[in-house]
Amino acid sequence: MTLSSPLSVLKGIGPKTEDELKKQGVSSIGELLQCFPSAYRSFSDITDVQNASPGKFSMFRLVIKSKPFFISRSKSRNIFTLIAGDDTGSLRITFFNQQYYSSILKPGSEWIFYGRIRLYKEHYCLDNPKIYSSENASGILPIYPISRVKQKTLRSAVMQALKETVDIADDYSAAFLSKYYLLTRKDELNGIHAPSCADDYMRARKSFMFKDFLLHAAASRQRVSKSAPPLPCHEKSIKEYSSRFPFDFTGAQLRAINEISQDMQSCVPMNRLLQGDVGSGKTAVAFFAAYNAMKNGYQSVMMAPTALLANQHYENAVKIFGSSTALLTSSTPASVRANILKGLKDASISFLIGTHAVLYEHLDFNRLAVVIADEQHRFGVEQRAALAALGEGVHSLIMSATPIPRTLALSVFGHVDVSVLDELPPGRKPVKTFIISENRRSDMYAWIHTQIRMGKQAYVVCPFIESVDELEGASVDDIYIELSSSFKDIRIETLTGKMRPFEKNRVMDSFKKGDTDMLVSTTVIEVGVDVKNAGIMVIENAERFGLAALHQLRGRVGRGEDDAFCYLVSDSKSAARLEMLTKTCNGFEIAEYDLKTRGGGQLYGIKQHGELETETAGIMDNPELYHMASDAIIVMENDFPLDHSTVLKLAAEKADRLRRIADN
Ligand code: ADP
Ligand code: MG
Repeated sequence: MTLSSPLSVLKGIGPKTEDELKKQGVSSIGELLQCFPSAYRSFSDITDVQNASPGKFSMFRLVIKSKPFFISRSKSRNIFTLIAGDDTGSLRITFFNQQYYSSILKPGSEWIFYGRIRLYKEHYCLDNPKIYSSENASGILPIYPISRVKQKTLRSAVMQALKETVDIADDYSAAFLSKYYLLTRKDELNGIHAPSCADDYMRARKSFMFKDFLLHAAASRQRVSKSAPPLPCHEKSIKEYSSRFPFDFTGAQLRAINEISQDMQSCVPMNRLLQGDVGSGKTAVAFFAAYNAMKNGYQSVMMAPTALLANQHYENAVKIFGSSTALLTSSTPASVRANILKGLKDASISFLIGTHAVLYEHLDFNRLAVVIADEQHRFGVEQRAALAALGEGVHSLIMSATPIPRTLALSVFGHVDVSVLDELPPGRKPVKTFIISENRRSDMYAWIHTQIRMGKQAYVVCPFIESVDELEGASVDDIYIELSSSFKDIRIETLTGKMRPFEKNRVMDSFKKGDTDMLVSTTVIEVGVDVKNAGIMVIENAERFGLAALHQLRGRVGRGEDDAFCYLVSDSKSAARLEMLTKTCNGFEIAEYDLKTRGGGQLYGIKQHGELETETAGIMDNPELYHMASDAIIVMENDFPLDHSTVLKLAAEKADRLRRIADN
């Protein structure tokens, strides 16, 4: 079998599973091997019930002590509980819509349970724990970020693919690999999918990521040599532009606009990074580039990471640019799309806004001069691919809310100029932020409950989607079960990245309209959501997030008139680092502190999709990654062995993979 073989060549993968995997972006052996575990479970971590502590994820070896007791037996709400214990104590275990287990977990049988301990009326409880048969519990199990396919099936499929794929090749020579202590591609894959100890996968991941950083650095360094059209700009034009807004620009915004207008007057393509904290007003600044292009008779395009954001930008752009603006996403009807393509070609459209995915498709612009990328975390490589698709010789502007130090910016973007919005528009209130330890958690929720009954709305953010993913940290599913059983009189909904687009829109609309009181979600709400009445945010297992990410998240509240609150739920051990967030609302200060103080020992950032975090946001959350990125630049500058065309080929492959993940 080869990397391009279909999954059907694997034993145990039937047409149904193959279909399901395809839906989740995995359709070949190569893609399966690229789907990295998002966590590992080690069976050496079994705890006694007497050592259980509320809020912690733990693993127990328990004997079933009671028959299942059904609390609800309807088709959509099947809930049963049972008691299980070891020599030191017992637990109440609740299953939500998992009726299947009621017949398997027979009294007297022994199982391994894994889940988050909850204290309820002095009883220890586990909700929807993971269950493993007691006999097979040994070694390290990879956990794949794939739902609706059994982990067991995935594991054996990956093992077979590792063994039988014949064309896993290396881009680098053996001499280069050994010089920089890197592994072969094959050893990396083995260490990541089938580690025999923790050191194994750490080493494999390190090697993999270093190569990734090298590629980033090399791809960004290959400069566009073609010149861009010079787009002159008069002082008057900036005045005229600002008069289209209902507010006065901040000093920082004006400075950035001036810098952009200077860049654009030259035939050397602009390559500028616009950094500013959440709410600093980056959009109005970025739109100026499109405005200046339009004034000069040229076209612009803006890429947004989600359809939600693209929509929001479009609505704003129409107010400034009028009818020469267009929106293109995957849900644009074919007829509208055809019109847009025509408008791009005859230049009747001067500003196109869309999602990354759509804009990579070959678009035929008449006079494209400006490319703007918003909140794009996977810069470098992906931007390269986008520019290649859209045509070279254009001015480019990248917007980011992640404060990136200059050295890192250079490594990720190549030569880049930076404008910083270090000033928030007047009248913004800081979000009151508190750290909540496990024993104050129920009081906090009780308070939020009373606020909701008074008409407020709240976000609850969890690090993970579902306990099926078996990741450590509160999951949306678990918290939803807990809150909806504790507070039956409020309307709670869940929102995750795995939901279908129309479902996401329905939930978001309902929350925006105030028909939902509480939204339990993953960080999907990080971008683009703007609900003024939602002034409360709870972040469960806050220690799982970087400070910069937490700061971005809390930027979602405090958009209304009233005071806004953010509660970081975490055990006391991690509280010290989180303290910083209670002290300042300055994103740059926070990121700097995070980079300095965040200790090692943490597994490299892994996204729910298993894509390793070589994204800037991830790098900023992890000093080890940061150093690795810096090392990669040095190697790239002094000793880089690959030629231009190989780098472009690898970059295109990587961009392709990222796009597939983003489309899911
Ligand atoms: P971000 O930098 O997070 O992308 P946005 O560009 O979305 O921020 O701006 C956040 C909000 O602030 C928007 O509603 C925008 O209209 C408003 N805004 C931007 N600049 C100003 C300003 N100078 N004065 C008042 N409000 C502003
Ligand atoms: Mg923005």
